This record gives sequence, structure tokens and C-alpha cells, in this order.
Amino acid sequence: MLAVIHTPPRGDGTALRARLAEDRSPSGVWRFGELVLPSAVAVAVSHPEGNTPLLSRSALSAWTSIDGLRLKHEGHNPTGSFKDRGMTVAMTQAKRIGARAVACASTGNTSASLAAYAAHAGIPAFALVPDGQVTTGKLAQTLAYGARTLLVDGDFDTCLRLLQEASAELGVHLLNSINPFRLEGQKTIVFELLQQLEWQAPDWIVLPAGNLGNTAAFGKAIDEAIAWGLIDRRPRLAAVQAAGAAPFAAAFARNFDRLDSVQATTIASAIRIGAPASYQRAVRAIRSTNGVVLSVTDAEILAAKVAIDRAGVGCEPASAASLAGARKLRSDGVIQPKDVVIAILTGHILKDPGILQEIHGPVSIAPALANPPVRVAASIAAIRAQLKSPPSC
Ligand SMILES: *Cc1c(COP(=O)(O)O)cnc(C)c1O
Repeated sequence: MLAVIHTPPRGDGTALRARLAEDRSPSGVWRFGELVLPSAVAVAVSHPEGNTPLLSRSALSAWTSIDGLRLKHEGHNPTGSFKDRGMTVAMTQAKRIGARAVACASTGNTSASLAAYAAHAGIPAFALVPDGQVTTGKLAQTLAYGARTLLVDGDFDTCLRLLQEASAELGVHLLNSINPFRLEGQKTIVFELLQQLEWQAPDWIVLPAGNLGNTAAFGKAIDEAIAWGLIDRRPRLAAVQAAGAAPFAAAFARNFDRLDSVQATTIASAIRIGAPASYQRAVRAIRSTNGVVLSVTDAEILAAKVAIDRAGVGCEPASAASLAGARKLRSDGVIQPKDVVIAILTGHILKDPGILQEIHGPVSIAPALANPPVRVAASIAAIRAQLKSPPSC
């Protein structure tokens, strides 16, 4: 696989941190352009993206028993997921080399992002998505931003395999996370959170893991941050998979002897991937950071999602895997009580309105967590009766 290799930046870590602090780019990706794709800063296709908040919430610290818990909310990106950080860089490169058309296979967030950035760049776009497996919000975005959307009778892994073959034949520019420029952009999640922490490395960075592009990008970012003197110790990575789509966690448990792909099933559609494309690079990331890979059940993901939602933060199901994983690592004693832990929330709550219906609708898949709407008569007596008993917080 191809990778972008950088000439080390000018000067030492102190000089680099000072330059980064002075950069006034409105984009949280191109602010780090020197560490991403220096030659493209002036021609970037940017909405802009990044600049996402690092949140602390006492309710979620209590829920995980981690006082030093912070949430990096990538749902604040322009199309509502971290995919925009990779897409701005890969689309900029596609435009520079005169791509005739761009394409991706997607569980929904990559296609939403591809469609928005292709529209901005003025390049025709194709999205291959598994029919019936993409959430309403993500499909709506992909169509609305104008990508030609192909509903494929197969899963994500099938979409990616078919597209890789056809795009090579037809010269359509592929923008999946096997595209090395995507990973360069996604590195800025790590650079930005380190800058927000004033370059004091956290003990852990916990992220959901599907196709493993982000895990690979985080490993590269940490390696570079060390090599370039931005930080003086490595955070440990924890990659969290859904139990029904956990080939990476299974391989980790066998000391990465091999990857056995699986038929993926989970409510967390963004990580419903059975044959992760960036496996080798992600193995390197876990090894170089003394990281761990684990899986959590759909019930644990749902419980974490409801906790995040009830804290007023909100995220899509796949994102909640990070918090469910952090909680599990803390209860297993892997994460220590005083550790500083950054959990990545990868996507916005409105990406998956269907799951909200399933949790909070009349027939809940998790009755203990449900907050169903209350149907009332249009009378002052009925409203008064309701207002007398506020819900618990
Ligand atoms: C893409 C995505 C993931 C998984 O990232 P990978 O790079 O495929 O491992 C997790 N959560 C959300 C919301 C995503 O869109």
C-alpha cells in the first residue's frame, strides 16, 4: 500500500508548535497543512472542516469511572463525521491531478463526505453503498449533494471489492481510506487534540474501528508527533470493534497471527465491516503505541450511546463504541483511575434517526433506556398534569 512520507519539518518541536499556534487557516486540517500535504495548502478544497471540540462531561466521567475522560466530537465536522478530514485532502489531490470522476464504497459517512467535497471541487462522484444498510441521514446527504448513488445487493466489503476492480479498469479515482491522502487528513484528529491538550500527551486515545483507516492514521500521527518533537511520550491506542464485526479484535487476541474476515453484523452500521482494508497499517499502529483492540456488544454500544445522548452530547451508534470500550477497559483495570483518556466520537447523532426510533419508539429494543414520547390530549388539564412531574435528569 502507498503512504505519504514527509520530509521532517524545519526546526525543533518548540519551533513547530509555535508555527502551528500562529497558523490562521479556518480549517482544522489545513492549519496542520505543513504536516499533511504542504504543497496543496494554497489550493485546498475545504468547507472548512475540523476544529472540533474536546468535551468533558461529569456524567460520562461517572459512567465510565474515568475522571480524566474527554470526548473529541468529530460529529461537528461539516457533513457530520470525521470523514471530512480525510476527504478534504484526498479531494484536493484528486482535483490537482485532474481526476475525471471520483468514487467510494461506503457504509454512508464516506459517501456523504465524498458527495459534499466533490460538489465543491466540481468533480462527478459515484457512491457504492450496501442496499438497505445505510442510515437515512447518510443516504439523504449523499443524494442531496449530488453523487450518483448505486445501491448494491451486497455488504460493504462486496461494494469495496467491486469498486476497486472497476475503478482501476475505468480510471475512476478511488477515495476510500486505502487512498493514502485520506489518512493524511485524518491524522489531524490527533494533532488537533494534542494541540488542545497543549501538547501534553494523554494516556489513551480510544476510537471505534471498522475498516481501520482511522486506526492506521492515528498510529502514523503519533509516530510523526514523536519523531518531530511535538510530544515526548506516546499515547496508547485502544481500537474498539462491535462484537459482530470484530476480525481485528480476534486477530489481536492471537497476537496478530492472521486476519480472518467475518460476515459482519451490528447495529453500528459505520463499523459493520468484516474484511478491514487497512489491517496491516492498523497492526503497526497498535504495536507501535503499545495499544489494545477489544470488542463490545451491541447492548454495550446502545447503553453508551444513550449515556452520551442523555449528557446532551449525542452521537451515532458506532461512535459510542469508543465510550463503551473505555468503560470496559477501566473496569478490567487496563485503564487506570488517574489516566487521561480521549474518546473519539466519530459521527453526529442525526446520522442515524432510525436507531432513535428503535430505542425511544413504542416498541423499544432497549426498554430500560427508552424515553418514549407521551401522547396527551390538547387540554390544559392534561398539560398541567404532565408539567407537575418533570422527568429525572
Ligand atoms: C468510518 C467510521 C468509523 C470507522 O472508521 P474506520 O476508519 O473505518 O475504522 C467509525 N465511526 C464512524 C461514524 C465512521 O463514519
